Amino acid sequence: MAVLVTGGAGYIGSHMVWKLLDEGEEVVVIDRLSTGFEWAVPPEAELVVGDIADQDLVEATIARRNVDAIIHFAGSIIVPESVADPLSYYLNNTVKSRALIESAVRKGVPHFIFSSTAAVYGGKHGEPVTEDALTLPESPYGRSKLMTEMMLADVATAHPFAYTALRYFNVSGADPNGRTGQSTKGATHLIKVACETATGKRSSMDVYGTDYPTPDGTCIRDYIHVWDLVEAHYLALKRLRAGGESIVANCGYGKGYSVLQVIDAVKRVVGHDFEVNVSGRRAGDPARIVANADRARAEFGWGPRLDNIDTIVLDALRWEEALKRRNNG
Ligand code: UDP
Repeated sequence: MAVLVTGGAGYIGSHMVWKLLDEGEEVVVIDRLSTGFEWAVPPEAELVVGDIADQDLVEATIARRNVDAIIHFAGSIIVPESVADPLSYYLNNTVKSRALIESAVRKGVPHFIFSSTAAVYGGKHGEPVTEDALTLPESPYGRSKLMTEMMLADVATAHPFAYTALRYFNVSGADPNGRTGQSTKGATHLIKVACETATGKRSSMDVYGTDYPTPDGTCIRDYIHVWDLVEAHYLALKRLRAGGESIVANCGYGKGYSVLQVIDAVKRVVGHDFEVNVSGRRAGDPARIVANADRARAEFGWGPRLDNIDTIVLDALRWEEALKRRNNG
């Protein structure tokens, strides 16, 4: 029996693969290597290079490896890119997810965990945001993920199929054991960009907007360590296997940091200054969003272990250095 991880050669997916292997699970990855890397998949897991919407390939893989659960990471994740090119987000995140879910139903895979996002909430909600808040996404990215959540809910009503949609807040950091990290080329996420600047891969970085209604004028986000995030998936998987019903759950710490606070943390941890420029607002960015994660705690006993911004930054910096050595060597 194996767990199928889509997007397992990517950032969060590769951490999930390591976590599942650490727990003694059999793992098969499907990834078309558009942003992921073959080397990011440990040799103990099988890598099938292909598209999640290739139903013949997916269904043959499910049958061959006796897959009982799918953890679905494959997708596109950059908010401003989704504003510029919405149709590719609806294709990658909605249409292809539909094909994958259909394969799961056809082959009788009973458990499904979906990478969703805090972007489904948009910015008009109370804080910290609970799963019952209105979903009013402000970007095509958020909408493309919300539509997939809706499909999952309908499918779970119609078929013997239970899912957990985890709404991620700002995932960052790297495996504390240094086995994987965020390797994506041209990454746009704040901690990754700041670590690239701190380690000299970029000469400077920008702060997108200092006129938001927040104490220092920059956007506030809830940064969650990727290792705590994959732990949440593993606990959610165990809950589904024990007969748990379909749920949606937030994954965040309930603590917010502004863009400037994050950049200060990177400077503090790396021990030197680097060039930061102020530029205009980026499309699709809500001013602040922080999680209420009570449901993940109550439903599958998840609790943060690495909820310290300096720990997140240190692990991210270590991976950035390792990546530099890999690319030079
Ligand atoms: N951000 C920034 N400079 C960068 C990258 C991001 O000021 O180089 C800001 C961005 O505008 C947002 C916050 O950092 O307010 C978090 O952005 P990120 O892309 O990391 O995650 P998102 O919340 O969009 O998923």
